[in-house]
Amino acid sequence: MATTVKTVSRPAGIRRQSYLLGVGAGMWVTFRHLMKNWIGNTLGRRAKTDIATLSYPEEKKPYPERSRGLHRLMKRDDGEVRCVACMMCPTACPAHCITIVPEEAHGGGIEKRPRIFEIDELRCVVCGLCVEACPCDAIRMDTGVHAPPTLRRADAILDKEELLSRGEKSTATQGGVGAFWREKVKP
Ligand code: SF4
Ligand code: SF4
Repeated sequence: MATTVKTVSRPAGIRRQSYLLGVGAGMWVTFRHLMKNWIGNTLGRRAKTDIATLSYPEEKKPYPERSRGLHRLMKRDDGEVRCVACMMCPTACPAHCITIVPEEAHGGGIEKRPRIFEIDELRCVVCGLCVEACPCDAIRMDTGVHAPPTLRRADAILDKEELLSRGEKSTATQGGVGAFWREKVKP
């Protein structure tokens, strides 16, 4: 294919040709931000000066209350995992990053519990659907902790022990409101 050259005419007028106005406007914005942040810093009013950057990792922005962080598995009163291996969360997970292998549970009125419960944090898209799907309040993402960087692929897969290490006792009803949900509705 032949290459053609398209000739573009220069903008008319010395002001447009020199780009002085554009350069001056850009410099003015930079200077304005410099003075605003410098004066704000000097007077100790940094928080009020719209600084959009942080000196990360020394300075960290606090996460909002509803931020979704690393997963954790909650515990029952007897310290056992609340999860009943109902498979709702791996079914809801769009990233297919939850692996559960159930086993028979003994005691606590529970039929099943997870023998293996793994979440691949590198595949997780942090959507929170697993938390929404769980009828037992067994899985949460309110840790305020980022998934840590890892050197080995396998380290990004969190197992049951690690997920439980961030868990606490949950005060929710095991299995959710369940068959008696109508009793909770006020007339
Ligand atoms: S947050 Fe979303 S992607 Fe991550 S494990 Fe839960 S359902 Fe899957
Ligand atoms: S939805 Fe809840 S109870 Fe069911 S498998 Fe997932 S964590 Fe366990």
